[in-house]
Amino acid sequence: MADDAELDRALEAAHLPALVAAMVHLTADASWLKPEWTPVYTPLSRGDTGLPDEAQADIRARAKVAIEAFLAGAPLKAPTPDTATLRKMMDFVAGAPIPETYADFLIDELAISGSSSKDPQFEQPALKAAARRLKVLVIGAGMSGLLAGIRLSQAGIGFEIVESNADVGGTWLVNTYPGCRVDNSNHMYSYSFEPNHGWPQHFSPQPELLKYFRGVAAKYDLKTHIRFETTVESLTWDEARSVWRAELKAKDGRRETIEANAVVTAVGQLNKPRIPQIEGVGTFEGPAFHSAEWRHDVDLVGKQVAVIGTGASAYQFVPEIAPKVDHLTVFQRTPPWGLPVPHYHEDVPEGMKWLLEHVPYYDKWYRFWLFWMTTEGFLPMVKADEGWNGPSTAVGAANLMLREMAAEALAAQVADRPDLLPNVVPTYPVGGKRAVLDNGVWLGALKRPNVELVTNAIIKISPSGVVTADGVEHPADVLIYGTGFTASRFLSGLKVTGRGGRELHDAWAGDARAYLGMTTPGFPNFFMIYGPNTNIVVNGSIIFFSECSVRYIVGALRLLAETGAKAMEVKRGVHDDFNVRVDEANKGWAWGSEGVSSWYKNEFGRVSQNWPFGLIDYWRATLAPNPDDFVLTRQPEPVA
Ligand code: NAP
Repeated sequence: MADDAELDRALEAAHLPALVAAMVHLTADASWLKPEWTPVYTPLSRGDTGLPDEAQADIRARAKVAIEAFLAGAPLKAPTPDTATLRKMMDFVAGAPIPETYADFLIDELAISGSSSKDPQFEQPALKAAARRLKVLVIGAGMSGLLAGIRLSQAGIGFEIVESNADVGGTWLVNTYPGCRVDNSNHMYSYSFEPNHGWPQHFSPQPELLKYFRGVAAKYDLKTHIRFETTVESLTWDEARSVWRAELKAKDGRRETIEANAVVTAVGQLNKPRIPQIEGVGTFEGPAFHSAEWRHDVDLVGKQVAVIGTGASAYQFVPEIAPKVDHLTVFQRTPPWGLPVPHYHEDVPEGMKWLLEHVPYYDKWYRFWLFWMTTEGFLPMVKADEGWNGPSTAVGAANLMLREMAAEALAAQVADRPDLLPNVVPTYPVGGKRAVLDNGVWLGALKRPNVELVTNAIIKISPSGVVTADGVEHPADVLIYGTGFTASRFLSGLKVTGRGGRELHDAWAGDARAYLGMTTPGFPNFFMIYGPNTNIVVNGSIIFFSECSVRYIVGALRLLAETGAKAMEVKRGVHDDFNVRVDEANKGWAWGSEGVSSWYKNEFGRVSQNWPFGLIDYWRATLAPNPDDFVLTRQPEPVA
């Protein structure tokens, strides 16, 4: 039992609307949802409830009594409030009415009853037996691959995970650059069914993320299913037998062929470093490396360092290395939008951890609030207004307002360095590229006397530095590429030969598309997680998408088990119609606007990465596969 002071500290750290919702569960008293206690958030307020001090003190005092009673043995009175009350609780925590259409979605996300639509449903004995006969090959043991393993295992489906690295964790294993951390609140960036009440920071550093995924792999005993240091080089669909043949190559050169009824790729989008095609790349004589291949053996202390790129990765490592180096030259082509998040590097207060752990449902409502405020609640700010004829630096009225607020916050930080101002406020709309979280350290680093921001275009890499269009050579001892990844080249390096001997990359011709990001015609029983058009721009957790995708994939396997079909392949028309809708919808957002270039668009200028609808739409679309969308093959096609 917490002592009085401990409880006070916990209440001080509480997100009060989430606390109030938790009190409704404790007391079964909906009168906690008082109008005068309803939060009034402002855009970018990130947690400030706008409640007067008196109301805050009132909530804490009453909550203290209720929690003390609970800790002393009073029963939890309303574990599962009725739907109408839950809806009122949602409106209260969000500080605004949640549209009716969202109710079932959010109740499911909250998993108030302890179960969720994402739990595999394979209870009947016949299904169980059919599941046991299936074998699924999962490629990748990062966040998505581990998730697939957990769900397949819960469904009783046989599976094997093949991973090219020596450990689990994917991006959180590979990216070890200084300052690497999640830029999505950890209480949302975690599996919905595996909350971690002990996250040390709101946005924890990479080692903590890796620890979490290692912990999950251990808890679900996944390692026994994983072949490490092994690469899947090719996949070939055997039409006669309706199985995928996978050619594997181990690190020691050994090759093996394995077979599976279905393949799930979970290889991520952001793991193939992109080194720009600048003249002289490769001629630099000092150490040169990409952010995702950080050379920890290269001591930067006292060195002249050049960094190319100012995206999310550089944004994190530049402030870390700036104080160590003698001189740092940052080459910026386009500035990032920073959105104010003062607690970006802050520890989660011990009191907050205590609440998450000890007050029932506080963790769920806190997650709900993060989810709503940073995803669906934020999307309208980056939506394009139809017929917008305002400045091209925004795509709509709300976006313009957001721009002004964010620009003001950036300008305030360089009030003492007016020379920097024109180069640190982007001219593209907020949401055009991935925005980063701003607690001042980025511009703080750029303002350092030993740091120079260069905005002239790079024309050449020389053996001793970087040459810009004005003819200046910027000398460097070490060159670091923060230049991102070849994200739109989906599944690069993996040869996938589907029905009729057609290779997937030939079929895509550089313009990867899929139905719901997962399936593509001509490739039966082949599913992608984090495939084309499943990325999100304005926060939101990609784990949500992976969970929805995995639910759908497990549903597809259930469909095979139920029907006895050997293969399922999305219909061409369904796939094409969906992609027309996606392309059209992507034009309605900041990231789809003309003139914005980012890794969200492929070489054809098409937004091949992003999901252009609400999260609720992906949730609904992936509840279960619609059998009418697929051609189900009961018997293998006879070999011609
Ligand atoms: P990125 O966002 O693609 O940024 C690449 C940077 O390199 C951009 O500033 C780009 O400028 C610049 N660049 C590329 N070619 C250049 C050239 N020839 N000359 C000058 N500059 C050049 O890559 P990233 O920073 O690695 O981030 C990629 C994604 O990974 C992020 O959007 C995010 O989704 C994810 N990420 C997440 C986290 C996190 O959660 N903590 C951290 C890092 C990355 P332009 O903008 O002009 O193209």
